Amino acid sequence: VRETDHGGQDPTDMIGLTDLPLIDQHCHGVLTGPASTSRFADLLAESGLPTPAGVDRFDSQLGRAVRRRCAPLLGLGAHVPGRAYLARRDELGAADVAARMLTAAGIDTFLVDTGLRSPTPSEPLTTPDELAALVTGARAFEVTRIESVAERAAARTRGADDLPEAIEADLADAATRAVAFKSIIAYRAGLDVPAKAPDLASVRKASRDWLAQIASSRRAPRLTDPVLLHHTLWCAVRAAATAGLPLQIHTGFGDTDLTLHDSDPSLLTAFVRAVHGRGVRLVLLHCYPYHRQAGYLAYTYPHVYVDAGLAVNHVGPRAPAVLAEFLELTPVERLLFSTDAYGLPELYLTGAALFRQALGAVLGAFVADGSWLLADARRAARRIGSTNARELYRIG
Ligand SMILES: [Zn+2]
Repeated sequence: VRETDHGGQDPTDMIGLTDLPLIDQHCHGVLTGPASTSRFADLLAESGLPTPAGVDRFDSQLGRAVRRRCAPLLGLGAHVPGRAYLARRDELGAADVAARMLTAAGIDTFLVDTGLRSPTPSEPLTTPDELAALVTGARAFEVTRIESVAERAAARTRGADDLPEAIEADLADAATRAVAFKSIIAYRAGLDVPAKAPDLASVRKASRDWLAQIASSRRAPRLTDPVLLHHTLWCAVRAAATAGLPLQIHTGFGDTDLTLHDSDPSLLTAFVRAVHGRGVRLVLLHCYPYHRQAGYLAYTYPHVYVDAGLAVNHVGPRAPAVLAEFLELTPVERLLFSTDAYGLPELYLTGAALFRQALGAVLGAFVADGSWLLADARRAARRIGSTNARELYRIG
């Protein structure tokens, strides 16, 4: 692979995926202003904790991908040291850098989860429309986080007896505007979700406890009670089924708020089974390192989709290995591309470039050993890159 290439001409691309159209089916806004050295380093990691002293995040797999693939877009040589990269970035300014990265990523549609806020209030993130405006001809749709809807309902509701219905009504209303729902229940209660909704008496009691706690703490409501989380998830299933929205669920690795083994998607099995036949499609986000479990669920249940994003960015040159494991069982019509980019526009470019290269390597190997026809590999790549998302989210 040439040192100066940012993912453009790739000699390992045996099946011609250099210009594969991509829909980013799960991502976040980027910082509208400059990123300090420490902010940039923190955003290169999924940790949530500050970068430890003596650690250079540019030496991580993702940091190396940025140096290799993004530096040439700023007029630098591939693999320049992080210091030089950040100096050039400051020189050009945030808007110019973002436009260069996002345009080179070759993503034409962004599904933006607006529930993840900026690291600090003084560093705003782009809205979905602002993000789309960075790329000529691109469009963006909003993904609504269901726990945020419940938190806003709690902030507004006076009586605990009204809260269960308020959550249900607000989700039904939100479903008319969003392209998808997203749940972060993996972070708050884990994925071992019961196969049926909690009874109303338990939900009312949990509502009373939560509202009392909000009143005494004077902080913004944060939904952590398992009964209310399960109530919210089941309300979302009903609203999503009525509106025809898919429900994205975070699974697999995340920041320090997450207990990894509670985010194994196979813990969702009872819920997946209970939802089957109710008219809602589930999208298991990220999945790594449980992507084989997720692939098994997609293989077994026709309403389960699997997202190959996030891990691809963080495992760098091992992305073909991870993608190959996704493709062991996941049907090609239910595997989806995303970057899960957040804060840094670089993450769109690295996510897209690593994905195209990894998919080309994996499908190319299937073709090379005679297992797949070239035409089938190309068709599968188009499905995974954009067709599956276009059909699933009805964004034709
Ligand atoms: Zn995300």
